[in-house]
Amino acid sequence: MLSDALFELNIKYNGNIEWKKDPEKVSVKNRGFRISLKVKDSSGIGARRSRNGHKMISACFHAHGDLFDILFNYGANRIVTEYHGRNDMKSKEDNWKDSNIGSRYFALYHSEACDC
Ligand SMILES: [Zn+2]
Repeated sequence: MLSDALFELNIKYNGNIEWKKDPEKVSVKNRGFRISLKVKDSSGIGARRSRNGHKMISACFHAHGDLFDILFNYGANRIVTEYHGRNDMKSKEDNWKDSNIGSRYFALYHSEACDC
């Protein structure tokens, strides 16, 4: 399911998204997996930008959000993100919550930290 989801995601992102680390089971009892995304080419689609515009190897807000939508389409019933606070998502309705990853005075919204 995870590799199918990544394949589908890469149709939109020109094959630029990959796992940072192979998905690993959260625990023996839990059926969940811990995943993180990165880009192959930081100049390509889906790459994050730092506050001062530098290219990063991390995947952006949109690449993550699109993957979560795909996983919910595939029947995932819970996705928890732990990036600038915890977001416990039960459905697509909970997805796409933007947050300020800058400072109080120099705001940078996660959704703006890329070239999408
Ligand atoms: Zn983006």
